[in-house]
Amino acid sequence: MRPDAEEKLFGIEPKWFNRERGPMSFGFEHGDGWASLVEGLLRLAQTRRAAWVGLPQDNPFAPGRFEVRQVLRAPGQTVAAGTTAGATAGMLRFIFVGGDEAFREAAREAEVASGQICEECGQPGSTGPWKHGRLRTLCGRHGGAP
Ligand SMILES: [Zn+2]
Repeated sequence: MRPDAEEKLFGIEPKWFNRERGPMSFGFEHGDGWASLVEGLLRLAQTRRAAWVGLPQDNPFAPGRFEVRQVLRAPGQTVAAGTTAGATAGMLRFIFVGGDEAFREAAREAEVASGQICEECGQPGSTGPWKHGRLRTLCGRHGGAP
């Protein structure tokens, strides 16, 4: 992700992310095309968090950090089996503790939507084999299936 786009997402609620260690210390590893999906979820979390228990409001060591990952390969999954073995491989994965059912539903919807959005540019795309046995969601212009 472009550094300015990444900082914009981190800046929505910096305390929700552990940038010192763990997966988010590497930043958002997907491309800019999914930034609006992630931003939408973070904005939704902001509007709903007052009612939530377990989400760190100010304590950087509390459980419930947000992690945004791209699942490149499901455990035990092969590329050939990709379309059936792991629905989330090659797609956005939004990990958090706390929240409520409405937010979890929105997160699931965003994850599903990411399977049809090129992670690089935000144009329509599809999830498929990429390189080194990994799966990614890309448009034809960025190396996905046309
Ligand atoms: Zn693209």
